[in-house]
Amino acid sequence: MAPRTITIVGAGQSGLQLGIGLIDAGYDVALISNRTPEQIRTGSIASSQCMFDAALGHERNLGLDLWPDAPRVEGISFAVAPPEAPGVKAISWAHRLDAPAQSIDQRVKFPALMGIFEARGGTLVFEDAGVEDLERYAETSELVLVAAGKGEIAQLFERDAERSQYAAPQRALALTYVTGMKPREEFSAVNFNVIPGVGEYFVFPALTVTGPCEIMVFEGLPGSDIDSWKGLSPQEHLENSLRILRTYLPWEAERCADVQLTDRNGVLQGRFPPTVRHPLATLPSGKTVLGMADVVVLNDPITGQGSNNASKCAAAYLAGILERGENAFDDAFKQGLFESYWEDAQHVAAWTNAMLAPPTPHAMTLLGAAQENDQIAKRFANGFDFPPDFAQWFLDEQAAEAYLGSFNTVH
Ligand SMILES: Cc1cc2nc3c(=O)[nH]c(=O)nc-3n(C[C@H](O)[C@H](O)[C@H](O)COP(=O)(O)OP(=O)(O)OC[C@H]3O[C@@H](n4cnc5c(N)ncnc54)[C@H](O)[C@@H]3O)c2cc1C
Repeated sequence: MAPRTITIVGAGQSGLQLGIGLIDAGYDVALISNRTPEQIRTGSIASSQCMFDAALGHERNLGLDLWPDAPRVEGISFAVAPPEAPGVKAISWAHRLDAPAQSIDQRVKFPALMGIFEARGGTLVFEDAGVEDLERYAETSELVLVAAGKGEIAQLFERDAERSQYAAPQRALALTYVTGMKPREEFSAVNFNVIPGVGEYFVFPALTVTGPCEIMVFEGLPGSDIDSWKGLSPQEHLENSLRILRTYLPWEAERCADVQLTDRNGVLQGRFPPTVRHPLATLPSGKTVLGMADVVVLNDPITGQGSNNASKCAAAYLAGILERGENAFDDAFKQGLFESYWEDAQHVAAWTNAMLAPPTPHAMTLLGAAQENDQIAKRFANGFDFPPDFAQWFLDEQAAEAYLGSFNTVH
């Protein structure tokens, strides 16, 4: 029997991972990319792409753990820095992750995975797909998936107003990739700092095109002092990064006495509204295409979950497609595939959206209690690898009270 044919638009985290999984399972897969490996490698950074163990596990299952010696992220540290009292940590704790996380610059990872996809028998096509192209793919493929991230083509998928909590960007985002930062003492970590009313800053080790680096991520409330990136040259962007640290987070500035940009393209700034979309888009011919990862569930990076979600989405779609066997890829199947992903992704969206809102009193109580209580710190840190857990103890006021109360109960 001839292999089933599948076309995936977008050779990013989800498209590459799904494409390679399908090729390994004997499917005939075309992957459409609007950028060549060389353009990706020499282009601008797009993400901080820190991935936790469950997401890395899906890559390991496909033999895609290509950077065993890359810097490891071994824990999470958390601090609250009141802007009116620079230098004071109102809350401060750190805990190790049960298994390390890792960030491989997409400029390094995507070209490598494109090579693997082709080497294992996939067809890589370079074009910037539009609606007419989707029609063409739908003529010759049994299933067309759109894994184009924040690409314009995602607009074909209608926003789901019920599942989208925000209509506007909640943060001005900036990334600064640097070398020369003083390593965190004790163990490496995502150092997550909250500056109430101003924004957040987190930083962690990664591997980029020039070798090991540290990635600075700035999340500024719109109109705040951290919302100050537009029109800056790369060097000015670095200087603005350091100014913000000196102003609000002197303990982070201290680590940065000797930092330099990794490369001219190691800076990024922008903003977007977190958006959930309906998973099926109907083409003029009446045929439908299915969205995946960021195309359908786009979260703010404040919780660093997008690449993790993309990996989990690719794994869920792969399992569903394989399970489908020779049966038709009809609309009910496509919708069901998305729902199998949303089961998990809804919790990521709920937690991420909660972190964008002003913190609730019970969340602050829990984060403060984590300073004294190692079990709470451990649970919060490892929630980055399993966000559905936050619904059980962190997001809901009553669940939070019950959880805190459990420590006071004498058994
Ligand atoms: C500032 C910032 C920081 C982040 N930090 C983290 C983090 O620490 N951890 C984490 O897990 N996630 C993070 N993310 C999110 C993460 O990078 C994305 O969620 C993830 O890459 C999404 O995967 P994807 O497969 O949906 O799309 P992508 O990986 O974006 O891939 C989409 C691909 O499709 C291509 N494409 C687009 N349109 C077309 C077209 N019409 N035709 C052909 N090809 C097309 C693009 O060129 C791109 O290569 C961050 C994002 C931002 C903006």
